[in-house]
Amino acid sequence: MSQQGYVATPPYSQAQPGMGGYPAGFGSAPAQPLYRHYGGPPQSFPAPPTGMMKPVSSPSGMPPPQVPSHYGSNGQQNGAHPQSYPAPPYGQPLQSPYHSMAHQGPPPAQQLTNQMGAMNLGYGPGAVQSPQAPPTSHLTQQQFQTSPPTAMGHPPMGPHSSQMAHPQSPLAGPTMAGPQSMGGPPPMGGMGRPFPGPPPPGAGGFQQPGPGAAGPPGHPQQLQGQFGGQMAGPGMAGPGMAGPGMAGPFQGGAAQMAGPPQKKLDPDSIPSTTQVIEDDQAKRGGQVYTTNLRGQVPPLVTTDYTVQDQGNASPRFMRCTTYSFPCTADLAKQCQVPLATIIKPFATVPKNETPMYVVNHGETGPIRCNRCKAYMCPYMQFTDGGRRYQCGFCNCVNEVPAFYFQHLDHMGKRVDFYERPELSLGSYEFAATLDYCKNNKPASPPAYIFMIDVSYANIKSGLVRLVCDELKTLLDNLPREDGAESSMVKVGFVTYNKILHFYNVKSALAQPQMMVVSDTAEMFVPLLDGFLVNFQESRAVINNLLDQIPDMFADTNESETVFAPVIQAGVEALKAAECSGKLFIFHSSIPTAEAPGKLKNRDDKKLINTEKEKTLFQPQKAVYEQLSKDCVSQGCSVDLFLFPSQYVDIATMGDVATHTGGSVFKYSNFQVERDGQHFLSDLRKDVEKAIGFDAIMRVRTSTGFRATDFFGAIHMNNTTDVEMAAVDCDKAVTVEFKHDDTLSEETGALMQCALLYTTISGQRRLRIHNLSLNCSAQLSELYKSCETDALINFFAKSAYRAMLNQPLKTVKEILVNQAAHMLACYRKNCASPSAASQLILPDAMKVFPVYLNSLLKTGPLVGSAELSTDDRAHQRLSTTAMGVEDTQLLLYPRLIPLHNMDVASDVVPTPVRCSEERLTDAGMFLLENGCSLFLWLGQACPPEMIQSIFNVPSLAHVSIDLRSLPELDNPQSQKLRSIVDSLLDQRPSSMKLMIVKQKDRSEIMFRQHLVEDKGLHGGASYMDFLCYVHREIRQVLT
Ligand SMILES: [Zn+2]
Repeated sequence: MSQQGYVATPPYSQAQPGMGGYPAGFGSAPAQPLYRHYGGPPQSFPAPPTGMMKPVSSPSGMPPPQVPSHYGSNGQQNGAHPQSYPAPPYGQPLQSPYHSMAHQGPPPAQQLTNQMGAMNLGYGPGAVQSPQAPPTSHLTQQQFQTSPPTAMGHPPMGPHSSQMAHPQSPLAGPTMAGPQSMGGPPPMGGMGRPFPGPPPPGAGGFQQPGPGAAGPPGHPQQLQGQFGGQMAGPGMAGPGMAGPGMAGPFQGGAAQMAGPPQKKLDPDSIPSTTQVIEDDQAKRGGQVYTTNLRGQVPPLVTTDYTVQDQGNASPRFMRCTTYSFPCTADLAKQCQVPLATIIKPFATVPKNETPMYVVNHGETGPIRCNRCKAYMCPYMQFTDGGRRYQCGFCNCVNEVPAFYFQHLDHMGKRVDFYERPELSLGSYEFAATLDYCKNNKPASPPAYIFMIDVSYANIKSGLVRLVCDELKTLLDNLPREDGAESSMVKVGFVTYNKILHFYNVKSALAQPQMMVVSDTAEMFVPLLDGFLVNFQESRAVINNLLDQIPDMFADTNESETVFAPVIQAGVEALKAAECSGKLFIFHSSIPTAEAPGKLKNRDDKKLINTEKEKTLFQPQKAVYEQLSKDCVSQGCSVDLFLFPSQYVDIATMGDVATHTGGSVFKYSNFQVERDGQHFLSDLRKDVEKAIGFDAIMRVRTSTGFRATDFFGAIHMNNTTDVEMAAVDCDKAVTVEFKHDDTLSEETGALMQCALLYTTISGQRRLRIHNLSLNCSAQLSELYKSCETDALINFFAKSAYRAMLNQPLKTVKEILVNQAAHMLACYRKNCASPSAASQLILPDAMKVFPVYLNSLLKTGPLVGSAELSTDDRAHQRLSTTAMGVEDTQLLLYPRLIPLHNMDVASDVVPTPVRCSEERLTDAGMFLLENGCSLFLWLGQACPPEMIQSIFNVPSLAHVSIDLRSLPELDNPQSQKLRSIVDSLLDQRPSSMKLMIVKQKDRSEIMFRQHLVEDKGLHGGASYMDFLCYVHREIRQVLT
């Protein structure tokens, strides 16, 4: 199998002449510089006073105080948070009503279980094997013979089981999915001790640097100089650097997983995601994360922390798979750890963190390196008394423009260092000049066009009336520039079925006017004046229109719709108005009317698990590809709200949205009463969210490596410029890097993401994010600095792209293979020698297998005829633009126990592991993954609890059709509702609340999110998967 990754063809690999219209590299080099201070001309946002920083009210404001690093000083011993969950019910067969759901198969993978029985588990720097560990298969076989039935009720395996020579791969789908493969915890010799154990001091052969090696030799002088001389002293170098004896975050190492052989494998002994999350929260939660150090590993995405920007972008904007790149391509190839950064350029920044500063050099524009065009940033080294600067990216020595000259202090730092965001911060913006505008003309404020399918289905469901009523109030909340009185976004309205209706809503009119376009083959916009208007000015006419629309089409019989012409109409309208914008399309059915982009039902379950399965996910028509290009070149983003009652070919219909920075929302079998609030919450969030338009992003790097691949709701016309019709606060682009040369430990790896875009008020800006990483010739440094959450984001996106071109089986094999190589390389090069029977995982990747296994079980990759093709395609498309927070939660949902919650406290109860074993009959649990929200009620849920939450006397009285919790005046009800509200508030999209009763049919939906268990539609349990990965690692090593 190829180890080179996926053979994915970019959707648009041909250069498109005539698109865009930007000069290469975001505008030409600055013209003859004029003297201008940053903070120049007045702008509609609160501009900073000339030559000074914008005043900040936040405690973490500028100039950066000399804050000592908090890290490495309050380490929490791994294991300091013992899990308080009840022991899993061993020996009791679980009454799972879903066995019939699973495919029948031969008793799978006994060999796996054998192997598990002999397997020791350790991770971190030099896991050591207990002398008690019994790694022989003979002993394992003995254990099988004496083993009681396992928790899932499968029959005890006989001695013959160890004769199974070829374990089934969990990727093999159906054959692994038999109920018996649920196996439950097999007997495990040598794993009696609960994970995690305390680290023996100084143990392990892990190549720990001594305190003197806290940073790479010759930690860049520019950082020392530029950040007020905050030295990366021993123990101050960030978590990845903790020396021996220090309570760094990776002290979980050297856990001895061995124990008396007769003990069963305790699920608590395998690495726990919830524990890792809790530990990080305990260690780094509530702290200030200062970005002054190169290669510093940030807190986990799940941890609650505050960022202080001191020269590197906040991890909210940029998060990496590792913070220490290998020096050479050979090392990178050897370890197979993807080198990637997930960039969320418009990430929401909490109110207590510094907002984005805008630097304005007036007509001169931003200062850039003459050679590589990188923007002025903390990595530029000033020399020659301040008259020149050396570019950190290409090493070119540039003259400092006269207007920008400043003297250096005795440290070689410019004396205006703290006054200039572009010298002292990781993230800031530049006001762009006309050079950066399309066709050298100033940009206009964007427009939002609401396009409502008024065919029979949408009228009948009540959707049209719901949308029209909502818009009357929602349009008051269009996004606006900070401090602006009202939004500058213009609005327009279209309704359609087989034909399109445009509306003139000019403020001067007494009544709105409708104009019909029935020739959808050559779409044009029949009116210019009065179509896109200011809502405040045209409020009366617009409200009049919104009142009339539901009645106008109340008696419609039209069930056919067009779709591509609707998008085309939106693009044409924006083109005519010379602005960028967004289309909000509310659509119900597959477009079968005679028109460009007409679609046929091509859903074919017979293709599942065949070579042709990929065709289900490939967009159907070239017409949509061209439409995406038209949209991107106009800066037209498409958000699609779908209300299907059957297959609508989301793979095709969602294609334009997912190439234009848009989103696809789906509400199957929509009913206003049941789903209305869920949809309206999504719509409100979507209309109000922070967003930039007509964006083009370039990621520049220091010499030796470069960005080679990009994943997101983006369009690529060439290999370097990432085009996004729009990019909002939830959209992330995952960027992969490859070496072209050797990287230097001394200078590290620098990256600069420059995003040119149009603000919501029509200003052209450049948003710059800078990040510096370490480089090392020691792979141990890379493994110490890995970020599992970022890794899995990369793996998910690359796999979901690859499945367009390769059979699912191949995609899954590549995933597991690469993971095995990553882990085997760690073992071979970084861990101390140990028996092959021991599974050793790098501490920073110890929960990677559970995420990977969860990914393999996601709808898109699972290949089950029981899942709807549209749902699979939808999940594939949505994941493409997700940030690290979203993929983390999607692949490891939060399962929150509610039955013991402290109603007096305002914290959310600590989540438990996503496994059936954690559920209790008398319990009540909330499960969320960012898309779905379940309230699970145990059969023996106490009536008092039911009464206080639902106001009914018993579980039997609780309606599973509830979509919100009744508002009751008691502490339990208030607490639970506040938890639900806070979860909904944190997520990019709204989640529909679903009530699930234990052992009800509806429980199936819930249970497929218990990612540590065997998949309902195929896929291994976490335990089985670990065995499988272990076997793969052993194979790599031999
Ligand atoms: Zn340069």
